Amino acid sequence: MREFDLIARIRARSKSRDDVVLGIGDDAALLRVPADKLLVVATDTLNAGVHFPDEAMPADIGWKALAVNLSDLAAMGAQPAWCTLSLSLPDSDAAWIDAFLDGFLALADTFDVALVGGDTTRGPLSVCVTVHGFVDETRVLRRDAARIGDEIWVTGTLGDAAGALAQWQAQQPIDPMLRARLDRPAPRIAAGLAFAGIAHAGIDLSDGLLADLGHVCSASEVAAEVEVDALPASPALQAAFDSAARRALQTSGGDDYELCFTAAADQHEGVVRVAQETGIAVTRIGRVVAGSGVHAVLADGTEWIPPRAGYVHFA
Ligand code: ADP
Ligand code: MG
Repeated sequence: MREFDLIARIRARSKSRDDVVLGIGDDAALLRVPADKLLVVATDTLNAGVHFPDEAMPADIGWKALAVNLSDLAAMGAQPAWCTLSLSLPDSDAAWIDAFLDGFLALADTFDVALVGGDTTRGPLSVCVTVHGFVDETRVLRRDAARIGDEIWVTGTLGDAAGALAQWQAQQPIDPMLRARLDRPAPRIAAGLAFAGIAHAGIDLSDGLLADLGHVCSASEVAAEVEVDALPASPALQAAFDSAARRALQTSGGDDYELCFTAAADQHEGVVRVAQETGIAVTRIGRVVAGSGVHAVLADGTEWIPPRAGYVHFA
């Protein structure tokens, strides 16, 4: 199959939106941006052997390539609209593309995201996605907006994907719930939109809580104190790992794709109310203090030193 046929296959299956003036097929896409919004753009690449194992299912690769990008938009408090897809493929395999699109387009349709263009080349398997969305200038969740005295919150549960990876690396049976968290992360778009009006700073958790919260702290020139034993753990994680292993997975494991945000302490009830109204689970995990760095503490206030830092490329 030639590149042209692959693109035709992709085009035939992608849905459009009213604000797409011209999508796949011309030299570039033409898109209508709402006049009262900021355009938000994020890009992430997934490489075979680095971001997913070579034997990963193509549908899961498709889902995750878009999910990690939508997670970045969620972390800005944005509403997603469009995406582009650059594929580097070792060979033109129609069955692979079809399965990849099953995952990719299932997620795109869920969030009404139109695939409006891309690029298709031959080379080692690599998937680069760019997503575009909109945000109100007054509701953006930036990394540099944390303030001393803020409470720190996370959505959902932490450590599930890292738990699945640990089981896979240990060649143990992988718990299906943990595995789903690793293969099919759910971007927290609704949470980003819901908490954008009340939160100060926000980030999505991709490289591990302590590492990602560290980015918020350095951008905001503050420190964070995280209560390790307050981190939300799923029943599956609690069943599969003892508390020492859990602490490591929840603080330093990657691939959570939950949101972490800070909000003024006097907005505590407001955060709880938004969570109840939207049905989004949030947990208060610590507070923003003066200083620098992220400090994990135990219930008695003593510092807890993580066994290793978050995943760092080229380290
Ligand atoms: P050009 O040579 O002008 O870059 P291409 O042959 O690369 O044209 O692409 C033709 C059209 O198909 C363009 O609209 C491009 O955005 C789209 N396209 C190419 N690859 C993909 C892809 N993997 N996913 C979505 N659209 C794609
Ligand atoms: Mg091109």
